[in-house]
Amino acid sequence: MQVLENAPLAPLTTLRLGGPARRLVTARTDDEVVAAVRAADAAGEPLLVLGGGSNLVIADAGFDGTVLRIATTGFELAGTRLELAAGEVWADAVTRTVEQGLAGIEFLAGIPGSAGATPVQNVGAYGQEVASTITEVLAYDRATGERVTLTNAECAFSYRHSRFKADPARYVVLRVRFALEDAAGQSSPVKYAEVARTLGVEADRRVDLRTAHDTVLKLRAGKGMVLDATDHDTWSAGSFFTNPVLDPDQYAAFAARLGDRTAPAFPASDGRTKTSAAWLIDHAGFRKGHGAGPATLSTKHTLALTNRGAATTEDLLALAREVRDGVRAAFGVELVNEPVMVGVEL
Ligand SMILES: Cc1cc2nc3c(=O)[nH]c(=O)nc-3n(C[C@H](O)[C@H](O)[C@H](O)COP(=O)(O)OP(=O)(O)OC[C@H]3O[C@@H](n4cnc5c(N)ncnc54)[C@H](O)[C@@H]3O)c2cc1C
Repeated sequence: MQVLENAPLAPLTTLRLGGPARRLVTARTDDEVVAAVRAADAAGEPLLVLGGGSNLVIADAGFDGTVLRIATTGFELAGTRLELAAGEVWADAVTRTVEQGLAGIEFLAGIPGSAGATPVQNVGAYGQEVASTITEVLAYDRATGERVTLTNAECAFSYRHSRFKADPARYVVLRVRFALEDAAGQSSPVKYAEVARTLGVEADRRVDLRTAHDTVLKLRAGKGMVLDATDHDTWSAGSFFTNPVLDPDQYAAFAARLGDRTAPAFPASDGRTKTSAAWLIDHAGFRKGHGAGPATLSTKHTLALTNRGAATTEDLLALAREVRDGVRAAFGVELVNEPVMVGVEL
């Protein structure tokens, strides 16, 4: 276990923002993870679990406690069953499953961060989400001091949400188990219109697995959604706002404000309607590249807030507030941040 005092956190985040950690502990085995969590909890020490830092906005003041960096490794495949250690790099694991001819997570290619964080916000993209393939999550339960195995149902997955996100101080994910599919070199059915269009197929058709993976990577790269240290459009936390899910009354009020414009609308659970945060931001007048300061909207995608190199967390939050308030004024819809805020609020 490596321990550093007063360690900079900005280089450990994809936004490259945030002040130092009072203590940074790097754990390379599950036992080290559990020991580090137990030690912090026994000392009453604030704890922040860090994977790839791709979904975190950390205060300029840093974190006055222990940051536990999960650096465990393990990719175990038995037939179509996959078990990943929390510290595995997610995008690399996805590529390996595709190389093994297994479908189920191929449309989640190129998403930064660790395998252990994927259940936290039920990572999803291009018509797929991990809730569809996760069978079990092995975690350390800080409330009981025990290791537990949670079934898919117990994870309470929903759109960009889960039991882990709802109760962030309770579980530290150690391992994630998936059930993949051997579809004879074919992908899962294509669900996302843009992917279907790009591949020239009807929705719900299967395509060559490798082609599906590579197509998603190409689409993502065009939006600055694949990490590239030389491209400031990727110095982000991905989508900064979740797509709003409106109940019938909220949707009626929103529709009334649209006038002759048509906003994207997709049926969600419980009679609700999901609309597009990117559309709202764009139509509220915030175009790609918006912002004069060291933090701007990505020049490739309105939904990503980026650090152009010299930004602080406060610069980024000022931009986020401007966008949120502008969308509220234009459409009466409240945007909610997707990344986890550490020591700051929107
Ligand atoms: C360019 C870019 C594109 C992105 N595209 C997508 C996308 O398409 N879809 C999508 O869903 N997300 C996307 N994201 C967001 C992000 O990649 C995912 O949320 C990812 O799963 C975060 O993983 P991480 O390891 O970096 O987590 P971190 O940022 O390190 O942590 C995020 C949260 O998870 C917690 N956490 C991390 N590891 C554990 C663990 N082992 N146990 C318990 N809690 C833990 C942290 O404490 C924190 O609360 C994107 C981000 C970027 C920068």
